[in-house]
Amino acid sequence: MTKVYGILAHPAGHSLSPAMFNAAFDASGIDAEYRIFDEADLGRFLELSRDLSGLSVSLPYKEKVVEHLNFVSEDVKAIGACNTVKIEDGRLSGFNTDWVGFLEALARPVSGLRVVVLGAGGAARAIVYGLVKEGAKVVVLNRTVEKAKKLAEEFSCEGFGGLPDLSKFECDILVQATSAGVSSRSDVLVDVEYLKRVRPVVFDIVYKPLITLLLETARNVGCEIITGEKMLLNQAVKQFEIWFGREAPKEVMRGALVENLK
Ligand code: NAP
Repeated sequence: MTKVYGILAHPAGHSLSPAMFNAAFDASGIDAEYRIFDEADLGRFLELSRDLSGLSVSLPYKEKVVEHLNFVSEDVKAIGACNTVKIEDGRLSGFNTDWVGFLEALARPVSGLRVVVLGAGGAARAIVYGLVKEGAKVVVLNRTVEKAKKLAEEFSCEGFGGLPDLSKFECDILVQATSAGVSSRSDVLVDVEYLKRVRPVVFDIVYKPLITLLLETARNVGCEIITGEKMLLNQAVKQFEIWFGREAPKEVMRGALVENLK
């Protein structure tokens, strides 16, 4: 019988996951399909979902889904958010692949490196968790300073502050993990003079547009840049491995992702 997987999000219509996973299923000869579940009533949806085989979970459900799960991984417990559900015999198991997707996209050892993370939402939480786990010295800056403080204290970071505090912190890597700039390219959080002076590697996890205004500015002053679709791809690759216990066809997934980002 064809197994059913899907993305649980609201809104979900723009998701790139169906393209990546349906291409992966085809390439791997797996009898499965990947759908979009744009839901409003989470509890009822999960009750009716026990015949499904797995879910990717995105905004606004990553935190809310946790209380409905039968098993949660240590990562989910620490981060407080789940982006991957595996469903077996009606039991829901929750995992988080955002942090490992981020680290794989970064593609370098981070132990001892100074990293400033802009943002303190769900994605930033997973990123800070991964960075601290790997021994980076992390500072969290956020529009709402209280949230930065809470996150930094929870994961024993080196510091926290508001976004305008960036100039006080030197860093090797600067991670943009807010949703600013998604709706308007005029939302620039980082002063070009800071980029010129500090020359960090700049990673913007936003992938629409692929080259955000921050990345464009950073590239123009000679910084190495990392685009957000690399995290998206790597977290999806880990989801595939959790669901099927085998290596994902990463290049096929990358091809489908890039094609659908155009
Ligand atoms: P979230 O939980 O809603 O958090 C949003 C964050 O953005 C908060 O820190 C919020 O600050 C900040 N923010 C929103 N608008 C802002 C503005 N105008 N100026 C400054 N800060 C602003 O969202 P999330 O799940 O963390 O996702 C954040 C972004 O990352 C989204 O664009 C999402 O698409 C992207 N993302 C990418 C990947 C990937 O694989 N590449 C994975 C996950 C998420 P306050 O706390 O002050 O509200």
